[in-house]
Amino acid sequence: MRVLHVAAEVFPLAKTGGLADVVAALPVAQAQQGADVRLLLPGLPSVMDGVQHARPVIDIGSCFGALRVRLLLARMPGSALPVYVLDAPYLYRRSGSPYGNHAGEEWPDNLQRFALLGWVAAHLAADDADLRWHAEVVHAHDWHAALACAHVADHPASEVRSVFTIHNMAFQGLFPLHDWPLLGLASRHMSPAGLEFHGQLSFMKAGLQYAHRVTTVSPTYAREIATPEFGFGLDGAVRSRGADVTGILNGIDAEIWNPATDAAIAERYDLARPQGKHACRRALQAELGLAADERSLLLAVISRLSAQKGLDLLLAALPQLVAAGVQLVVQGGGDASLEAAFRMAQEAHPGRVHVHIGYDEARAHRTIAGADAIAIPSRFEPCGLTQMYGLRYGTLPIARRVGGLADTVRDAATTLGNGFVFDEATPMALAAAVLRAARLRAQDPAAWQTLQQRGMAADQAWAGAARQYLQLYRDAAGRPGTSLTGGGAGGAGGAR
Ligand code: ADP
Repeated sequence: MRVLHVAAEVFPLAKTGGLADVVAALPVAQAQQGADVRLLLPGLPSVMDGVQHARPVIDIGSCFGALRVRLLLARMPGSALPVYVLDAPYLYRRSGSPYGNHAGEEWPDNLQRFALLGWVAAHLAADDADLRWHAEVVHAHDWHAALACAHVADHPASEVRSVFTIHNMAFQGLFPLHDWPLLGLASRHMSPAGLEFHGQLSFMKAGLQYAHRVTTVSPTYAREIATPEFGFGLDGAVRSRGADVTGILNGIDAEIWNPATDAAIAERYDLARPQGKHACRRALQAELGLAADERSLLLAVISRLSAQKGLDLLLAALPQLVAAGVQLVVQGGGDASLEAAFRMAQEAHPGRVHVHIGYDEARAHRTIAGADAIAIPSRFEPCGLTQMYGLRYGTLPIARRVGGLADTVRDAATTLGNGFVFDEATPMALAAAVLRAARLRAQDPAAWQTLQQRGMAADQAWAGAARQYLQLYRDAAGRPGTSLTGGGAGGAGGAR
């Protein structure tokens, strides 16, 4: 099975969130299971600089507003996985995130930047770009890659199958409808059964409507996005795809996130040698200037600071938690008002609250290893990775029962508990869960240890999810596709 994964980011070359971790680990796990897997990425500066042994495949010439576009084939650092890179300096060579500038403003030409990505992906599948390799399955991740699914569906001779994975329904790639001519797609797709979305054009819909299969990153989120509460206006489109939409829970990279071998942490530990975690805890308190307090619950947050993550609930609950002796370490960035509020919280609670605004991988490892618990009070959470990192490091997740959190965290009060779960998105419900954790840790260390051991022993590696995706590709290939040239897969019985 020849599989092309298409995405805007991949760890360690470019990362803004969990998407990058998935795109780094899933293809490698699939390759280990015998699939012939390659990546396609935009040539962001960090990607151009980070890949190895790059050589030109084809000179594409001028398109999507760029004068020079070339396709390169290189290797990923570390895994050596083959990676196609779109070298289009005019579109991708800028400093900032994959999506915008340092001030957080999106690039004004994102439509062209990601239209190019999907278009080239479809050509790679159609044996039109690299004469030595073509994909049987195009696996497009998030809206950035979604146009690949429309192009694949549009090609009359194509036997290629496309899979679209939604990593976050909140980000849909919406652009003015009058920019349609820039897309390079036939105008018959410019309808509500195609890419049109309330007077705008939606990249997300290209994946939702045209992919042979649509997946998201946890079973619970797959159900949630079919409801108005979580569907961000696309719940109807999700429902119309019926059983074509499924959830496959993300794994974690069990080599990068392994306390037994983690070079970033003060002392390595595992189930057989759990003492190392105490050393990590002391080292973290010392590093961050927190009181060397053995009894307090040391709570961590590693997160984008956005409304999605529910961290305003934590801010509201903080005075009560600090009064109860909780220590808090926050590492994150994003929303300016949340950044400012957390900075103020640090000033208000010296020695009890530490806030680091910024992105730092090694520091994230030290924090997760040193903390007792990790809070993820998200309003919605497609999968969430930090609760899984927490489980692996004996750092108990305190999570809202939503999306992938509901699929991975089980409350301490249940037979197979591995953390603490709450339902309401309120400061009170969050505070109650944190205080429950603090009490259990202080009053029943043996029960606490049992929870830790359960999490640390769990298999969260990618192998299982990789197998499920490969099976999904086979299912998609075994089912005859319907020509989409009539204009989109609209209704319940719509194509594929
Ligand atoms: P999302 O993709 O919605 O941001 P996830 O939990 O799926 O949330 O993935 C977030 C990823 O980004 C995790 O690997 C987490 O460790 C990492 N991360 C988030 N913020 C930071 C930060 N400030 N420093 C280091 N890593 C971070």
